[in-house]
Amino acid sequence: MRSKDKITHFLSYLILNHQIIVNIRDRILQASNIVIVTHTNPDGDAIGSSLGFYLFLLKFNPAAKIRIIVPNDFPSFLKWMPAVKNIRIYQDNDVEAILEIQEADLCFCLDFNALKRTDKLSSFLEESKAQKILIDHHPQPDPNFDIMVSNIASSSTSELIYDVINGLGGKELMDEDIASCLYVGIMTDTGSFSYSCRRPETYLVVAELIRLGIDSELIHRKIYDTYSENRMRLLGFCLSERLKVLKDFHTAYIFLTLDDLNRFNHQNGDTEGVVNYALSIEGIVFAVLFTEKESKIRISMRSKGEFSVNDFARAHFQGGGHKNASGGDSFTSMRETLNYFESVLGNYQDQLIQVNQNELK
Ligand code: 5GP
Ligand code: MN
Repeated sequence: MRSKDKITHFLSYLILNHQIIVNIRDRILQASNIVIVTHTNPDGDAIGSSLGFYLFLLKFNPAAKIRIIVPNDFPSFLKWMPAVKNIRIYQDNDVEAILEIQEADLCFCLDFNALKRTDKLSSFLEESKAQKILIDHHPQPDPNFDIMVSNIASSSTSELIYDVINGLGGKELMDEDIASCLYVGIMTDTGSFSYSCRRPETYLVVAELIRLGIDSELIHRKIYDTYSENRMRLLGFCLSERLKVLKDFHTAYIFLTLDDLNRFNHQNGDTEGVVNYALSIEGIVFAVLFTEKESKIRISMRSKGEFSVNDFARAHFQGGGHKNASGGDSFTSMRETLNYFESVLGNYQDQLIQVNQNELK
C-alpha cells in the first residue's frame, strides 16, 4: 500500500467516528420528516445511494415520513430499481417537492459536495429549517452542512452508505433490495470495477452485498445491456463522425449537436458512457464529451492517472467533480466552446505528455 493510501484509509476511520455516527442516529430517530436529495442529472450512484438509504431509513425509523427528491429525470436503465417509483422528480412535480422540503426536519444530501449541484432545488434547501447531513465522496466539499461524512477515498457514495448503515448498527436491517441499490452505485461509479476501486474495503463491502443475495450479473445486464437500437447507432455515429483525436495532447473529444441527438431520437441517459470510449484509445489520457442542450453545452470529462479533470473543469467550465471524472458547462456556441477548449489545451501539453509517459511505465 502506498503511503498516500494509508493516510486516506486512516482518515476514513476518523471521518466515521463514533460521535458523528451517534449524532446521525439521534437525528434520524428524532426526525418526523426526512428528505433525501441528490444531484442534478442523477447517475447510478446518486440513485443507488438514495434508494438504498431510503429503504434502510424506512426500517430504521418506521415512524418517520421518508422522501427522496431529485432535481430532474434520470436514465431509464435505472428505472427497474427497488422503490424507484417513490422518487419525486422536482422537474415534473415542483409544488410537491418544494412542500416536502419545507416540512422536512432532516435532510440527507447524497453524492454531491455543494448545494448548487441540485440546481433549482438549492434555494429551497438553503431556506429549509432541516438539519443537513452530507454523505459524499467528492473532493472539496462545501463546509456549510450540519454534519459531514465525506470520504474521497471511497469508491462511491453507495459504499459510504454501507459504512454509515453499518456504523448505525443497522446491518441486520439490510436486505437484498438495499444491497442491490448499493451495488448499482458501486458498480457504476467504478466503471464496473475498473477505476476508483483500489481499496480492499470496496470489495469487502461488495462481498457483503453478494452475501445478502443480490444477482450481480443480472444487475450488470440490466444497467449495461439494455441499449435501444437508436442509442447503439448514436454511439456508432459518435465514434465514426464526431470523434476528434489530438494526438500531440494525448486528448480525444466527441461533440454532439442538438440535430445529432434528434436524428437518433435521443433519450435521457443515451450518451452515458460515451466519453469512456474516447478515453480507451491507446495513448489518450484526457477525454471529453461536449453535448449541446437547449441553453448550454454540457461537458463531461475523464482522465487517466494524475491529470485532474476536476481542476480543469473548475478552471475553465464552471464545474468540478473527481480527479478522473468531472463535468462542467459552457454558455457559448459549440464552435466557440471547442475553439476555447483547444486553445486552453496548450497550457496543459507538458502535463498531458508527462501523464502519458507515466502510463507507459
Ligand atoms: P458526468 O460526466 O458523469 O456527468 O460527471 C462526472 C462526475 O463529475 C460526477 O461525479 C459528477 O458528480 C461530477 N460533476 C458533473 N458535473 C459537474 C458540475 O457541473 N459541477 C461539479 N462540481 N461536479 C460535476
Ligand atoms: Mn458518486
